[in-house]
Order: sequence, then structure tokens, then C-alpha cells
Amino acid sequence: MPRDPYQVLGVERDASEQQIKKAFRQLAMELHPDVNAHDPDAEQKFKEAAEANEILSDAERRATYDRYGHDGLRSGGYAPNFDGFGSISDLFNTFFGGASAGRAGPAYPEGHRQGGDLAVGIELDLLEAAEGAKVQVRYDAVERCEHCHGNGAEPGTPIKTCARCGGAGQLQAVTRTLLGQMVRTMVCDECHGDGRVPEQPCRECHGSGRLASKRTLEVDVPAGIADGQRIRLGGHGHAGEAGAPPGDLYVVVQVREDDRFVREGDHLITALDVAAPLAALGGTLEVPTLDGSATIELPAGTQPGEVLTLRGAGMPALRRSRRGDLRVVVNVVVPRRLSPEQRELMERLNDSLSEENLRSQESVFAKLRRALGSQAA
Ligand SMILES: [Zn+2]
Ligand SMILES: [Zn+2]
Repeated sequence: MPRDPYQVLGVERDASEQQIKKAFRQLAMELHPDVNAHDPDAEQKFKEAAEANEILSDAERRATYDRYGHDGLRSGGYAPNFDGFGSISDLFNTFFGGASAGRAGPAYPEGHRQGGDLAVGIELDLLEAAEGAKVQVRYDAVERCEHCHGNGAEPGTPIKTCARCGGAGQLQAVTRTLLGQMVRTMVCDECHGDGRVPEQPCRECHGSGRLASKRTLEVDVPAGIADGQRIRLGGHGHAGEAGAPPGDLYVVVQVREDDRFVREGDHLITALDVAAPLAALGGTLEVPTLDGSATIELPAGTQPGEVLTLRGAGMPALRRSRRGDLRVVVNVVVPRRLSPEQRELMERLNDSLSEENLRSQESVFAKLRRALGSQAA
């Protein structure tokens, strides 16, 4: 289980954006393996700090974490992407503008990695979710450096065979133990497994071959998408190392609450105020729908909490042609603050009512349920 990101960064739960940024920079400076060679766990701690920062520096992610913890982030499609970020030296460059320029960071033992996945959140209103939308997303991702075409050498300068590993890209460490000689193979820390190093590192990416950049992408959100669903865009994540494939981008959709409708699957529910006399008389009502308004027949004698259904006026079903229904819960409003004439009319009406007008087939329990509103949904 990953640790609490607030604890990792050592900030209070109500820390400001600025405080979080500052705490992360401070930690990163202390833990960066180039700086902190004596602590064997520095790399792990640095990654932990970077992940904590990734969660807390994004308002949406932070809110999700505050409410649902790490599980909530994972089920929302978020995965920490520092594993695939490449060398820590890249990461450091990304955050600190080349503070470790020219120095080689530690290599990942696996060598060239696929680019990491990214997640970005978008917010839609209910109508956009119903109709589908094109949404521009902006995010930061690591790209191949165009100045050196990803090979890390300043253009026009030679790339020479790595002197440290003799071009093998690997180093062997022999240690003597009680059980005999142990040979460990490691990725060369000079060339990161390439076997070749630029004589003069690229001035744009400082030899890493990759750079952080801002990207903008237009995302097609399908009609019928629901709150919390995610869209996967293959290949739009971080660039991979030295020709390895890029990661994916996950767009996590949030649908804002609507003033008029509550969504239940593909159905929409709304409440409509109807004056008690009209509910008794019946008539034609105008009801709001997602695309304007529609009329619906109100039967005479409609009781509070009864549900009228408008077929096909709900949400479109994702990747299917049929639509859900609109359910209109009738909220019978008893008139207040009567004028003298209205009062007289009501008195006359009340006097004229007989048992026949009030009788219903419902049991006491059914009446209670209705009165308490559990019929509504
Ligand atoms: Zn470059
Ligand atoms: Zn080497």
C-alpha cells in the first residue's frame, strides 16, 4: 500500500499549492540520487515523493484522494507514472530545469523503457455528456528531443563508444561471499545501456534525448458517458526511451451535477411542482428535457410522488442507439397564503368533498411510503 502523500511530503492536509510545491522541491533536492549517494534508498524515496507530488499538485486528484484514498485514485484510472518516466535525471530536469545538467543519473536496470501512462481529468455538464463533446485537454508529457532526434548528442558531434563498458552497455560486478563468487550484471551507469555516449551532450536535453513539453489534444467524448468513466488514448502518454513505444493517456471524465436532473443509469429523474387543484383536475404539463421542453399528460387525480414517464427522453446509452427515459416525479404543492376569494372557494370545495373523493386502494404502509418520499426514485 502506498503511503499517505501528505505524510510523504510532510505537509498538513490543508496545505496550499505553494506549500506542496515547496515541500516537494525541498525533498527532491535532498533525495535526488545524484546528490544523495550515501543513502541507498534515496531513489525509492525520491520516486515516492514525486508520486505524492503528482497526486497533491493536481486539484482533482487531490480531492479524489482526500475522499477515497489510493483505491479511489486507482479505480478512477489514475496510476502513478514515474515508473515509466525514464531516468530520474530526466525527471529532475523536468522539474528543475536542468539542475543536474551534464551529469548522468542512475539507469533503470531494465534499460530502455516504454513511456509511462498519464491521466488527465475533464469536466462536462450533463448536456455535453448526453450529446458527446470534443474537449481540448492540456497536459505535460515527456517527448523525444527534436534537437538531437533523441540520441542525446549535440547535432554534428560524434557519438563514441562508451569507455566505461567498452560498448557492451553492461557492467559486471564480482563479489566474494561465503558461498563463493557472485557475478552481478548491471546496466552501465555511464551510457545507460546504450554502449555509446555523445562526446558533446545535446544542449536542449542535456544528453537524455527527451524533454518535457506541454501538449494539447482534442478528445472525442462519446454521447452517454457517465461520471467517473475514463477514455484511453493509446500512444498519447510519455514518450518511451530511445525508440521504445510511448505510454497511454487516460482521460477521466467528471460530469457536473445538474440543477434539473438526477441521473440513474440511462434514465433521468426530475421533480415537477403541480398545484393541488391541477393534480385533481388533470391536464397537460410542460416538462424540461435535456434538449428543450416537452409536454406530458397529467391524469386527473394524480397523487403526490406519482411518477410520469417520458420514454426516450433520458440519456443515450453508450455505444447503443436506444435512449433511457425521463421520469417526472409529481410534487403536489398545496396552495399557501390564500386570498379571501380563494379561501372561500377552498371552503366550498372542502365542504363538498365526500368519502368517494378521497378513497384509495393503498394500504397505510403504501401511503406512509409515499408520504416519506421513498416512491420518488
Ligand atoms: Zn536533445
Ligand atoms: Zn557504457
